[in-house]
Amino acid sequence: MEDPRRAGASRKSSFRVVEDVDGTRVTREKERHDLANALDAFREYLKRKDLKLTGQRTAIVRKVFSTHRHFTAEELQDLLKAEKGRISKATVYRTLALLTECDLIVEHDFGQGTKYYEQIFGRVQHDHLICVSCGKIDEFTFDPIREVQDRISRAKGFRPISHALHIFGLCENCATKRPT
Ligand SMILES: [Zn+2]
Ligand SMILES: [Zn+2]
Repeated sequence: MEDPRRAGASRKSSFRVVEDVDGTRVTREKERHDLANALDAFREYLKRKDLKLTGQRTAIVRKVFSTHRHFTAEELQDLLKAEKGRISKATVYRTLALLTECDLIVEHDFGQGTKYYEQIFGRVQHDHLICVSCGKIDEFTFDPIREVQDRISRAKGFRPISHALHIFGLCENCATKRPT
């Protein structure tokens, strides 16, 4: 039976962002390269847990790596509806948890009551600006933030792996609509 939604499968291009946060161009070639490496890393990780990289898990990783933005589990499931075969909500959640455990994606709490995910493999470490009015999520990198992380950690004898900085406020658009 043909799923009528499959006709819209090619619309995924609307999610493409062609530059990473530091201005690096995300070419198709880089995307393919990152996806291949991510699949290898995931396969290795699953093997250690006595799990297999199934067709459904592969489809989820492919979708995650073609989505250059922050997404919720529900949004990912919607995107996957265009794929052949049904992928259950449980499989989507379980796979997101596994991808988080092996550091291919990160989970964010942007204070909106829903968890957001994004793929970080092959990407630049970055921080976020979250608009509390419209929910827009913007990204930035700023070297002194990394320096603070490293300097404080060194002083405390701590070995840093990553950091997260979320700045909450009003985006340019919402700020002009709402006088202070
Ligand atoms: Zn806004
Ligand atoms: Zn981000």
